[in-house]
Amino acid sequence: VGESELRNDEIGHLLLAASTREEGHRRLALERAAKAAWTWPVEASDAAASDSLTSLASVGPWVAQRIEAWLQDPPPIPEPDETRRDFLTFARARAALDADPTWQGDRHGDLQMHTTDSDGRLPLAEMVEAAREAGRAYVSITDHSASLKIAHGMDAAQLADQARRIARLNASFEREGSTFRVLRSMEVDVFDDGSADMTSEVLAELDVVLGAFHSKLRSSGDSTPRYLAALANPSVHILGHPTTRMFDRRGGLVADWRRVFAEAARRGKAIELDGTPRRNDLPVPLAELALSEGVEWFSMGSDAHDATELGFLEMAMATAAIVGIPRERILNYQTPAEVAAWAGSLSERAAAPGW
Ligand SMILES: [Zn+2]
Repeated sequence: VGESELRNDEIGHLLLAASTREEGHRRLALERAAKAAWTWPVEASDAAASDSLTSLASVGPWVAQRIEAWLQDPPPIPEPDETRRDFLTFARARAALDADPTWQGDRHGDLQMHTTDSDGRLPLAEMVEAAREAGRAYVSITDHSASLKIAHGMDAAQLADQARRIARLNASFEREGSTFRVLRSMEVDVFDDGSADMTSEVLAELDVVLGAFHSKLRSSGDSTPRYLAALANPSVHILGHPTTRMFDRRGGLVADWRRVFAEAARRGKAIELDGTPRRNDLPVPLAELALSEGVEWFSMGSDAHDATELGFLEMAMATAAIVGIPRERILNYQTPAEVAAWAGSLSERAAAPGW
């Protein structure tokens, strides 16, 4: 007992494969457990060692028996579908952060979150307060741009109105003597040709700009030109949820990642680690490649749409911890003033001739 090295993601793959050999409620039970495996707070091997497998979500006595048998005699792990490959489990993320508490303990911001100004579920002031209570030193508000109609994206006038509300919040923090700040940002939609869904004049008013793809996400063709064009846009500072993959739904865009990251490195752009578990984007292997290709800056975002999702920032931190990204290259550990200055200098550099 407890000798098995099977990790929860591997157990997830085994459960899913086993589900295809069952019918009816047994099949459903295995499918449910296969998905839940990613969210178990501890490794199943540890839970089994303390006889508490059935305390894990979606694990009843029958499923627990299957897992127990695998732990004692590990079978070969089936090759996972691309929509389930390289997703970080909660257990592995927890272990990575527990091994070095400074990831969470050091002052840090959250550089992606949404409010009711687009598709978030909390109004700006409440979301900001929740982030402050969650221990963030500052946040960046990244509501969607107008072309993302499903997310009720913002146009320039709505963004200007949000700017006034953010200014009032920052003024009240200053009055209280709090160093907490709200950065003005946007998750601006970036089109195929690299252009953004907002004029460069309006984007220049923001402290930092997160650009992301939201259309043709199931394209199986080579999207490298799309990434290079996005990185060439002087208004975009951070490439948000880079692959656009989604657990169980899509594998993400196909690109020559070595080239994409080398280009991000050359241009000094930041690559995001989106912490939403069903995104976990970049995944660990691609984040390793980004680091080895010399990407200078990384940005972490919870991509939260409500207060509880602010905790998703931990998944991004865990990815950074596992990959070993130096803290001084992660924007979130800079002060909000430093992040804004970094973005400003990046735009200036991009405007220089011959760049
Ligand atoms: Zn997005």
